[in-house]
Amino acid sequence: MKKRALLFCFFLFTTSAFGFGNEEKFSTYFRDATLRYDFYHVGTKGEERIVPDKMYEEGTWAGSLVNLVDTLNLGEYLFKVIDMKTNRVVYSRGYSCMFNEWQTTDEAASGVYRSFQESVRFPYPLHSVQLTISRRDKRMICREIFSAEINPASPEIHHETLSPSKVISIIKNGDSHKKVDIVILGDGYTNDEMKKFDDDAKHFASDLFSTSPFKEREKDFNIWGVEVASHESGIDQPDRRLWVDNALGTSYNTFGSARYVLTDENRVVRNYAAAAPYDFMIILVNTNRYGGGGIYQLYAISYTIGETPATAWQADYVCVHEFGHCFAGLGDEYYSSSVAYNNFYPKGVEPWEPNLSADPSREHLKWRGMVSSTTPLPTPWNKTGFDSIENERATLNPSLSNYLDSRQELLEAERKVLEAQKYKTVVGAFEGAGYSSTGLYRPSVDCRMFSLSLTGFDPVCSRAIENMIDFYAK
Ligand SMILES: [Zn+2]
Repeated sequence: MKKRALLFCFFLFTTSAFGFGNEEKFSTYFRDATLRYDFYHVGTKGEERIVPDKMYEEGTWAGSLVNLVDTLNLGEYLFKVIDMKTNRVVYSRGYSCMFNEWQTTDEAASGVYRSFQESVRFPYPLHSVQLTISRRDKRMICREIFSAEINPASPEIHHETLSPSKVISIIKNGDSHKKVDIVILGDGYTNDEMKKFDDDAKHFASDLFSTSPFKEREKDFNIWGVEVASHESGIDQPDRRLWVDNALGTSYNTFGSARYVLTDENRVVRNYAAAAPYDFMIILVNTNRYGGGGIYQLYAISYTIGETPATAWQADYVCVHEFGHCFAGLGDEYYSSSVAYNNFYPKGVEPWEPNLSADPSREHLKWRGMVSSTTPLPTPWNKTGFDSIENERATLNPSLSNYLDSRQELLEAERKVLEAQKYKTVVGAFEGAGYSSTGLYRPSVDCRMFSLSLTGFDPVCSRAIENMIDFYAK
């Protein structure tokens, strides 16, 4: 199929790139600090502009000193840092953002323009560099949309301490350069609730490290908590007319989706996060309403308190699921819950997410190396049975008193359907994924990215997570 050629879109590198063999190379180009480049991402559907904002020096560089140039080819965008003397790419990273999600909403389709704050972070350069940002187009071909020269001695770079917040070390396994560093921030916790934040952050860490493959790789992580005090408890819930003075600006109803929690206060969030060395960021919100969100290389957000004791496990599900998006670029494998997007994955185009494929053929399937020759492709499963329960779940009325019990019963019925499948233990190509009932395939019957359950990550998602750990923990 023609689209196959696009899978390996040369997102990677149009300028000469090289891998760093040792830490000396790092010190040729960088010092051990972080440069944050803030900008506004402005536009509407089919149109976008990057408008520079401010630059900041943050603390120690938390990332690898060896793996600087991105080899993973994930994310909607790619930024590159090019040494101007040698014209070499000395750092690059793929990422996604709120803007590209917003572009698929009705609001963007109607021609409205909006702007979102964003940042890219990289080790602090010793000499002038060129920063470029590229975007995949609908055919996955990458186009440069922005370029700027950065002089590291520029008086425009801010060097003040950005966050006076208290940092707690939750798990410390070693030097940040050789570990995956996660910073956890809390939103909607007042000063009096800081002990609760510390407990919630520790709870998240134990939740993550009881889930494979994180469980087996715990020694490759450091986890930090930054105590952020909000004036008021909880976060905004616009559909319930609940407005809260919360420090990080997180809110339900992002893009009109009830359970979708994000924040567009990027500068505030980044300034708080800068108190700790970090590669990845998690924001725990002090609420008991189901919700969360996760964007590759931006952050994962999760609610923390179950709606009832019987549904408390769902907060554990959400935290780790959202972290799968943020950390490994995993796509949503579910397809029947309502989302705010239109045509998020254009038909016939192979998505970049490692766990979604538009082509289930044995020659082209993205994870074909993990499929046994005896497993049929596409792989049969009881989609009709599963869909009929999902349809029933969609009609439940959240305002009725028996809503949570009814939902729990239907989730249990779904679990039984999934467990009864002949191919439930093997990797294949199961139709129904990425908000699309047809035309997109997921690697396994069930996974943390598919059903609302505490099931683990399937082998394809696990491999993507391990690849990411390997990349950061060197
Ligand atoms: Zn998701």
